Amino acid sequence: MNIMLFGAPGAGKGTQAKFLIEKYGIPQISTGDILRAAIKAGTNMGLEAKRFMDEGKLVPDSTIIGIIKDRLAESDCKEGFILDGFPRTIPQAEALELLMKEMGISLDRVISLNVPDELIVGRITGRRVCPKCGASFHMEFNSPKVEGICDYCGDKLVQRKDDTAETVVSRLDAYHTQTAPLFDFYTERNVMSEVDGTKDVSDVKEDIFKILG
Ligand code: ADP
Ligand code: AMP
Repeated sequence: MNIMLFGAPGAGKGTQAKFLIEKYGIPQISTGDILRAAIKAGTNMGLEAKRFMDEGKLVPDSTIIGIIKDRLAESDCKEGFILDGFPRTIPQAEALELLMKEMGISLDRVISLNVPDELIVGRITGRRVCPKCGASFHMEFNSPKVEGICDYCGDKLVQRKDDTAETVVSRLDAYHTQTAPLFDFYTERNVMSEVDGTKDVSDVKEDIFKILG
Protein backbone atom coordinates (compact mmCIF):
# COMPACT_ATOMS: atom_id res chain seq x y z
CA MET A 1 0.00 0.00 0.00
CA ASN A 2 1.38 3.42 -1.00
CA ILE A 3 0.05 6.15 1.25
CA MET A 4 0.68 9.85 1.61
CA LEU A 5 -0.07 11.85 4.76
CA PHE A 6 -0.98 15.41 3.93
CA GLY A 7 -1.45 18.43 6.19
CA ALA A 8 0.06 21.55 7.72
CA PRO A 9 3.26 21.37 9.76
CA GLY A 10 2.20 20.03 13.15
CA ALA A 11 -1.04 18.46 11.85
CA GLY A 12 0.02 15.05 13.17
CA LYS A 13 1.52 13.32 10.11
CA GLY A 14 4.60 11.92 11.88
CA THR A 15 2.53 10.80 14.88
CA GLN A 16 0.09 8.87 12.69
CA ALA A 17 2.86 7.48 10.46
CA LYS A 18 4.21 5.51 13.44
CA PHE A 19 0.85 3.72 13.85
CA LEU A 20 0.71 2.93 10.13
CA ILE A 21 4.23 1.44 10.25
CA GLU A 22 3.09 -0.87 13.06
CA LYS A 23 -0.13 -1.88 11.32
CA TYR A 24 1.04 -2.31 7.72
CA GLY A 25 4.75 -3.01 8.15
CA ILE A 26 5.76 -0.47 5.52
CA PRO A 27 8.36 2.30 6.02
CA GLN A 28 7.70 5.98 6.70
CA ILE A 29 9.48 8.30 4.32
CA SER A 30 9.81 11.70 5.96
CA THR A 31 11.78 14.17 3.86
CA GLY A 32 12.15 16.32 7.01
CA ASP A 33 13.80 13.40 8.86
CA ILE A 34 16.06 12.67 5.88
CA LEU A 35 17.14 16.32 5.72
CA ARG A 36 17.80 16.45 9.49
CA ALA A 37 19.93 13.29 9.20
CA ALA A 38 21.91 14.94 6.38
CA ILE A 39 22.47 18.02 8.56
CA LYS A 40 23.68 15.83 11.42
CA ALA A 41 26.03 13.97 9.07
CA GLY A 42 27.37 17.34 7.84
CA THR A 43 26.86 16.60 4.13
CA ASN A 44 26.86 19.42 1.57
CA MET A 45 23.20 18.75 0.85
CA GLY A 46 22.41 18.98 4.56
CA LEU A 47 24.27 22.25 5.01
CA GLU A 48 22.54 23.73 1.97
CA ALA A 49 19.09 22.61 3.18
CA LYS A 50 19.66 23.89 6.72
CA ARG A 51 19.57 27.53 5.59
CA PHE A 52 16.04 27.08 4.28
CA MET A 53 14.82 24.95 7.17
CA ASP A 54 16.04 27.37 9.84
CA GLU A 55 13.99 30.12 8.16
CA GLY A 56 10.89 27.94 7.81
CA LYS A 57 11.17 27.97 4.01
CA LEU A 58 10.86 25.00 1.68
CA VAL A 59 14.05 23.35 0.46
CA PRO A 60 14.38 23.57 -3.38
CA ASP A 61 12.41 20.98 -5.35
CA SER A 62 15.49 19.60 -7.15
CA THR A 63 17.10 18.58 -3.83
CA ILE A 64 13.91 16.98 -2.52
CA ILE A 65 13.12 15.10 -5.72
CA GLY A 66 16.66 13.68 -5.76
CA ILE A 67 16.21 12.45 -2.17
CA ILE A 68 12.92 10.73 -3.00
CA LYS A 69 14.25 9.08 -6.15
CA ASP A 70 17.02 7.43 -4.14
CA ARG A 71 14.77 6.50 -1.23
CA LEU A 72 11.98 4.88 -3.26
CA ALA A 73 14.58 2.73 -5.02
CA GLU A 74 15.52 1.06 -1.72
CA SER A 75 14.35 -2.52 -1.20
CA ASP A 76 12.19 -1.85 1.89
CA CYS A 77 9.81 0.21 -0.29
CA LYS A 78 8.81 -2.78 -2.43
CA GLU A 79 5.67 -3.60 -0.41
CA GLY A 80 4.66 0.04 -0.06
CA PHE A 81 5.49 3.19 1.90
CA ILE A 82 4.08 6.12 3.85
CA LEU A 83 5.04 9.53 2.51
CA ASP A 84 5.21 12.12 5.29
CA GLY A 85 5.94 15.74 4.41
CA PHE A 86 6.40 14.99 0.72
CA PRO A 87 5.29 16.18 -1.81
CA ARG A 88 4.98 19.79 -0.69
CA THR A 89 4.75 21.57 -4.05
CA ILE A 90 3.03 20.88 -7.38
CA PRO A 91 6.38 20.25 -9.16
CA GLN A 92 7.24 17.69 -6.46
CA ALA A 93 3.84 15.99 -6.92
CA GLU A 94 4.34 15.89 -10.69
CA ALA A 95 7.84 14.45 -10.30
CA LEU A 96 6.49 11.81 -7.90
CA GLU A 97 3.74 10.88 -10.35
CA LEU A 98 6.28 10.39 -13.13
CA LEU A 99 8.64 8.43 -10.90
CA MET A 100 5.89 6.12 -9.68
CA LYS A 101 4.68 5.60 -13.23
CA GLU A 102 8.21 4.53 -14.22
CA MET A 103 8.19 2.14 -11.25
CA GLY A 104 4.79 0.75 -12.26
CA ILE A 105 3.10 1.83 -9.02
CA SER A 106 0.63 4.53 -7.92
CA LEU A 107 -0.56 6.28 -4.78
CA ASP A 108 -3.42 4.32 -3.23
CA ARG A 109 -4.61 7.01 -0.85
CA VAL A 110 -3.80 10.50 0.40
CA ILE A 111 -5.00 11.24 3.92
CA SER A 112 -5.49 14.92 4.69
CA LEU A 113 -5.21 15.71 8.40
CA ASN A 114 -7.30 18.84 8.82
CA VAL A 115 -6.18 21.13 11.65
CA PRO A 116 -6.84 24.91 11.73
CA ASP A 117 -3.89 27.31 11.95
CA GLU A 118 -4.81 28.51 15.43
CA LEU A 119 -4.05 25.05 16.89
CA ILE A 120 -0.76 24.65 15.03
CA VAL A 121 1.40 27.05 17.08
CA GLY A 122 0.67 25.23 20.37
CA ARG A 123 1.30 21.86 18.76
CA ILE A 124 4.63 22.86 17.29
CA THR A 125 6.05 24.74 20.28
CA GLY A 126 5.11 21.86 22.64
CA ARG A 127 6.50 19.17 20.33
CA ARG A 128 9.43 17.03 21.48
CA VAL A 129 11.03 14.59 19.05
CA CYS A 130 13.30 11.59 19.20
CA PRO A 131 16.59 12.37 17.42
CA LYS A 132 17.10 8.64 16.76
CA CYS A 133 13.78 7.39 15.30
CA GLY A 134 12.01 10.70 14.59
CA ALA A 135 8.99 9.87 16.82
CA SER A 136 6.99 12.90 17.85
CA PHE A 137 5.46 13.66 21.25
CA HIS A 138 3.81 16.64 22.90
CA MET A 139 4.44 17.90 26.41
CA GLU A 140 0.70 18.32 27.03
CA PHE A 141 -1.37 16.53 24.37
CA ASN A 142 0.67 13.39 23.64
CA SER A 143 3.23 12.90 26.38
CA PRO A 144 5.64 9.95 26.38
CA LYS A 145 5.22 7.21 29.01
CA VAL A 146 8.40 8.40 30.77
CA GLU A 147 8.99 12.16 30.72
CA GLY A 148 11.64 13.20 28.19
CA ILE A 149 12.20 9.64 26.87
CA CYS A 150 11.10 8.15 23.52
CA ASP A 151 8.47 5.38 23.88
CA TYR A 152 9.81 3.60 20.81
CA CYS A 153 13.59 3.55 21.26
CA GLY A 154 14.37 4.99 24.70
CA ASP A 155 16.42 7.94 23.42
CA LYS A 156 16.28 11.37 25.07
CA LEU A 157 13.70 13.65 23.44
CA VAL A 158 14.74 17.06 22.10
CA GLN A 159 13.07 20.20 20.76
CA ARG A 160 13.59 20.84 17.05
CA LYS A 161 15.52 24.01 16.23
CA ASP A 162 12.77 25.15 13.85
CA ASP A 163 9.93 24.52 16.34
CA THR A 164 9.62 28.13 17.49
CA ALA A 165 6.61 30.48 17.42
CA GLU A 166 8.51 32.74 14.95
CA THR A 167 9.31 29.97 12.45
CA VAL A 168 5.75 28.61 12.57
CA VAL A 169 4.55 31.79 10.84
CA SER A 170 6.75 31.26 7.77
CA ARG A 171 6.14 27.50 7.76
CA LEU A 172 2.38 28.06 7.73
CA ASP A 173 2.80 30.65 5.00
CA ALA A 174 4.80 28.15 2.90
CA TYR A 175 2.10 25.56 3.56
CA HIS A 176 -0.79 27.76 2.41
CA THR A 177 0.92 29.18 -0.68
CA GLN A 178 2.92 26.18 -1.92
CA THR A 179 1.51 22.98 -0.39
CA ALA A 180 -2.26 23.53 0.03
CA PRO A 181 -2.84 23.46 -3.79
CA LEU A 182 -1.98 19.75 -3.63
CA PHE A 183 -5.37 19.15 -2.03
CA ASP A 184 -7.09 19.79 -5.38
CA PHE A 185 -4.32 17.96 -7.26
CA TYR A 186 -5.05 14.71 -5.37
CA THR A 187 -8.83 15.26 -5.20
CA GLU A 188 -8.84 15.37 -9.01
CA ARG A 189 -7.03 12.01 -9.00
CA ASN A 190 -9.72 10.49 -6.73
CA VAL A 191 -7.32 9.44 -3.98
CA MET A 192 -8.02 12.14 -1.38
CA SER A 193 -9.65 11.37 2.00
CA GLU A 194 -10.05 13.85 4.84
CA VAL A 195 -9.92 13.30 8.57
CA ASP A 196 -10.55 15.68 11.45
CA GLY A 197 -7.03 16.12 12.84
CA THR A 198 -8.26 18.04 15.89
CA LYS A 199 -9.53 14.87 17.57
CA ASP A 200 -7.42 12.95 20.09
CA VAL A 201 -4.41 11.09 18.68
CA SER A 202 -6.12 7.68 19.11
CA ASP A 203 -9.39 8.85 17.50
CA VAL A 204 -7.51 10.21 14.49
CA LYS A 205 -5.72 6.86 14.27
CA GLU A 206 -9.05 4.96 14.25
CA ASP A 207 -10.47 7.27 11.57
CA ILE A 208 -7.42 6.65 9.36
CA PHE A 209 -7.57 2.87 9.90
CA LYS A 210 -11.26 2.92 8.88
CA ILE A 211 -10.37 4.67 5.61
CA LEU A 212 -7.45 2.39 4.78
CA GLY A 213 -9.19 -0.81 5.88
P1 ADP B 1 3.67 16.74 11.63
O1 ADP B 1 4.45 15.47 11.40
O2 ADP B 1 2.43 16.82 10.79
O3 ADP B 1 4.52 17.97 11.54
P2 ADP B 1 3.51 15.76 14.38
O4 ADP B 1 2.98 14.37 14.20
O5 ADP B 1 4.94 15.91 14.73
O6 ADP B 1 3.12 16.69 13.12
O7 ADP B 1 2.59 16.45 15.49
C1 ADP B 1 2.86 17.80 15.92
C2 ADP B 1 2.67 17.91 17.42
O8 ADP B 1 1.29 17.74 17.74
C3 ADP B 1 3.43 16.85 18.21
O9 ADP B 1 3.88 17.44 19.41
C4 ADP B 1 2.38 15.76 18.45
O10 ADP B 1 2.64 15.01 19.62
C5 ADP B 1 1.11 16.59 18.58
N1 ADP B 1 -0.09 15.92 18.07
C6 ADP B 1 -0.17 15.06 17.01
N2 ADP B 1 -1.45 14.65 16.82
C7 ADP B 1 -2.19 15.29 17.77
C8 ADP B 1 -3.60 15.29 18.10
N3 ADP B 1 -4.48 14.56 17.41
N4 ADP B 1 -4.00 16.07 19.13
C9 ADP B 1 -3.10 16.82 19.83
N5 ADP B 1 -1.77 16.86 19.58
C10 ADP B 1 -1.31 16.11 18.56
P1 AMP C 1 9.09 18.62 8.52
O1 AMP C 1 9.96 17.70 9.31
O2 AMP C 1 8.21 17.88 7.53
O3 AMP C 1 8.31 19.57 9.38
O4 AMP C 1 10.06 19.49 7.62
C1 AMP C 1 11.01 20.37 8.21
C2 AMP C 1 11.56 21.30 7.15
O5 AMP C 1 12.27 20.54 6.16
C3 AMP C 1 10.53 22.11 6.36
O6 AMP C 1 10.15 23.30 7.02
C4 AMP C 1 11.30 22.38 5.06
O7 AMP C 1 12.26 23.41 5.23
C5 AMP C 1 12.07 21.08 4.86
N1 AMP C 1 11.31 20.10 4.06
C6 AMP C 1 10.87 18.87 4.46
N2 AMP C 1 10.23 18.25 3.47
C7 AMP C 1 10.24 19.09 2.40
C8 AMP C 1 9.70 19.03 1.08
N3 AMP C 1 9.02 17.96 0.65
N4 AMP C 1 9.90 20.10 0.27
C9 AMP C 1 10.60 21.17 0.68
N5 AMP C 1 11.11 21.31 1.92
C10 AMP C 1 10.93 20.27 2.78
